[in-house]
Amino acid sequence: MSEPHSPLMPVEQALARLLELAEAAPITEHELVDLTDADGRVLAEPMVAGLDLPPWPNSAMDGYALRLADWQGEPLEVSQRILAGMAPDALQPGTCARIFTGAPVPEGADTVEMQENVSVGDDGHVHFNQPLKIAQNIRPQGQENRKGETLLAAGTRLGPIELGLAASIGLAQLPVRRKPRVAVLSTGDELVEPGHELGAGQIYNSNRYLLVAWLQRLGCEVIDAGILPDDLERTRQALGELEGVDLILSTGGVSVGEADFLGIALREAGELALWKLAIKPGKPLTVGEFRGRPVIGLPGNPASTLVTFGLLARPYLLRRLGVQKVEPLGFNVPAGFTWPKPGKRREFLRARLENGRVVPYSNQSSGVLRSAAWAEGLAQVLEGTTLAEGDSVRFIPMSELLG
Ligand code: AMP
Ligand code: MG
Repeated sequence: MSEPHSPLMPVEQALARLLELAEAAPITEHELVDLTDADGRVLAEPMVAGLDLPPWPNSAMDGYALRLADWQGEPLEVSQRILAGMAPDALQPGTCARIFTGAPVPEGADTVEMQENVSVGDDGHVHFNQPLKIAQNIRPQGQENRKGETLLAAGTRLGPIELGLAASIGLAQLPVRRKPRVAVLSTGDELVEPGHELGAGQIYNSNRYLLVAWLQRLGCEVIDAGILPDDLERTRQALGELEGVDLILSTGGVSVGEADFLGIALREAGELALWKLAIKPGKPLTVGEFRGRPVIGLPGNPASTLVTFGLLARPYLLRRLGVQKVEPLGFNVPAGFTWPKPGKRREFLRARLENGRVVPYSNQSSGVLRSAAWAEGLAQVLEGTTLAEGDSVRFIPMSELLG
């Protein structure tokens, strides 16, 4: 436990510690999955090309293929017509071949002229109207990759592009790390699932839906552990039932408040630390183990849940799967706002880009998930700094965090 007045932990330090924990508990089991099921998963072994791509030289244009070395500038007869998917004959000397984009260049031909630059005479002979260069408009064999080349490293997250690439070298399945099993717990007597009537003092459980969808996108198997009431005995019981999970992810109940039953129950049977982060929204984060199972307790405010999951828990989970690049891309954009008073915590403002400038949502109160729906990203205002309009601010697109 941190002392009430201990210094706040910088975000970098929290991330570095979480990544260390992740590396100490890697999820290494593999499974083979079809490409159509592999989106969002993490490649378990390097992806090596089993063939040259393209496998044979092919035409980059609709046009005519000829052998430049033998040609004196005279019109050429068309001796064959080659469409994509055909296996052509060798080019007859002294002739050209009609050829279409993607079709194999016939043996003996070394140049393709595009159809726009030729004229075809009444006799069907092709007049080449422009000077030709050897090898023009031909995609040589192996231009994209050679057989035996590694195209993707182990630990790559698979998305549409990687899956297309796998298909292009003929792979129907890929070895991926197994899905992490993540138990999602929501805590709080006030929580009610959507679809039910709200009673006095109650609110709907939004964090669960935020996290379940997000975890699924990250390639996790979600174990829904439901809502935990603010009751020590029932909290103990619910935790005891969580068998075989790779991570217990909870929201709420981690402040040092009196209703911190989750923290109490976790501490009884595990090693728990409460980190007070120099982050806003966010701040309290529980990290540790419960009966050998890793635990991350996120703060309950939905905007805090969003920011701490995106900046800390997401990289942690990806690193457990062997992903090296776990931090979201950000870029510097001029501020479209001022920040006159330096803060103690790093602020992540729900913000948009307007006319090339970062504009924060008007209400940054940490309970406002609506602001995050409005936002296109998070604007990072460093602790201890002020900003004038036009000063550079780091902007992290939401798509980087949510993917
Ligand atoms: P706590 O950390 O439990 O004190 O919660 C902090 C704030 O977040 C309180 O206003 C809670 O009502 C709210 N909160 C906690 N969990 C959820 C949840 N699952 N969905 C929506 N709001 C929540
Ligand atoms: Mg609570």
